[in-house]
Amino acid sequence: MNLSDRLQLPSYLHHTDDVKRRVEELRNRAVVLEVDGLGRKFDSAKGEVTALHDINLEVRSREFVSVIGPSGCGKSTFIKILAGLDTPSSGAARIDGTPIDGPGAERGMVFQGYTLFPWLSVKRNVMFGMRMKGVKRKSAEQQALEWLEVVGLEKFADHYPAQLSGGMKQRVAIARALANEPRILLMDEPFGALDAQTRAAMQSHLLRVWEKVDVTVLFITHDLDEAVYLSDRIVVLGAHPGRILEVIDVPVDRPRDPEQFLTGHFLATKRRLEELIHSGGHGDQDEAA
Ligand code: ADP
Ligand code: MG
Repeated sequence: MNLSDRLQLPSYLHHTDDVKRRVEELRNRAVVLEVDGLGRKFDSAKGEVTALHDINLEVRSREFVSVIGPSGCGKSTFIKILAGLDTPSSGAARIDGTPIDGPGAERGMVFQGYTLFPWLSVKRNVMFGMRMKGVKRKSAEQQALEWLEVVGLEKFADHYPAQLSGGMKQRVAIARALANEPRILLMDEPFGALDAQTRAAMQSHLLRVWEKVDVTVLFITHDLDEAVYLSDRIVVLGAHPGRILEVIDVPVDRPRDPEQFLTGHFLATKRRLEELIHSGGHGDQDEAA
């Protein structure tokens, strides 16, 4: 029996007035991402694999949505389709009503292994997308410095990626993605390679940035604490076939603070995630996360 089983917890469905207000307010916002009957099958040596089955989801303006599930449940396949790097076998996804068909500047990507250009300075990495779009050098430079200030790295503008820690590199990657003013930020386990302490700092940092910037976030993780701490809603996927088990409105007040990790509502949500993940089909390595 783990700690949360022994504690008297509120129901994860119980919402404080603050949470009720936020959930209600979010429901009235414009839909940015619409996913409609999305499916993806792969042919493999062992036969056909249904990586995703009938995924339906709407993500609204400035909402922070996480997708969680065991290894092999289709998380990366899902975000690759949204990024335009893979094509669904059925259904469709739209941004502001326009079907996704290949990569686009309105979707910013921060992936775990999505590295910076090592031969460009931090500033030039952030300027890169703007320069590609034809923004004049002076203006791109000015904006890059502003984005670096947002992620707290303005002092490192002239450094090169090799001179930065892992956490700092991911902050540059976030600044680079935001500099293109995307409608949605697609993040696939962006902190997965960082040590626990840096990872915790990056989570709080991302929340502070998200509070300042008008952007919607779709965040993939297999870390339960990370999902609860960051999100407005959590989409829980099961494996084989990859499908939605439940979508949870996170009943934790905002603004978030690491002290909330031990509150009843936080622990109750984590317990519900654990239940769903244990019941929802096993992942590729039976990894219960
Ligand atoms: P996750 O990111 O949740 O770990 P993935 O989206 O990477 O899961 O994979 C979902 C399932 O689809 C897995 O069973 C995986 O083996 C399979 N899969 C993913 N990509 C391919 C591919 N290119 N060809 C064949 N099978 C694939
Ligand atoms: Mg993955």
